[in-house]
Amino acid sequence: MRLGRELFPGGEKEAGVEDCIFCRIVRGEIPANKVYEDERVLAFDDIHPMAPVHVIIIPKKHIATLLDVGCGEITDLQAMMAAAQEVARLKKVDKKGFRVVINCNEEGGQIVFHLHMHLLGGRKLRDGLN
Ligand code: AMP
Ligand code: ZN
Repeated sequence: MRLGRELFPGGEKEAGVEDCIFCRIVRGEIPANKVYEDERVLAFDDIHPMAPVHVIIIPKKHIATLLDVGCGEITDLQAMMAAAQEVARLKKVDKKGFRVVINCNEEGGQIVFHLHMHLLGGRKLRDGLN
């Protein structure tokens, strides 16, 4: 079992904005290989890629999970989707295809509790969603 607390300190659910690993990347306190950035969104290569292209797309605003998206956060979600299109083009997986995934809470496989989208591509992805 992968334990977020051990693998990614600052990823845990109760982490505040100060400690949150992805907020720290937004603030430039932790290095990341940035792929795309605009006023609302940041995209960077996953540190443990599961495919030749594996990009993490996050809102710059700290939102813990998909369940924390309300009316005030819809624009951030919209910006993440637009960023996914741009990242797919930048990484040249738009034509062949790619997958976007949002894990939510423990059984959904969420380890870092700052909303993020995985964009995966560059190989034939398995059919199952497991
Ligand atoms: P999830 O299981 O959806 O919470 O996925 C969190 C993802 O964040 C994992 O795929 C990690 O490899 C990735 N991750 C954690 N820390 C970093 C980091 N510092 N830079 C890039 N990706 C990271
Ligand atoms: Zn955060």
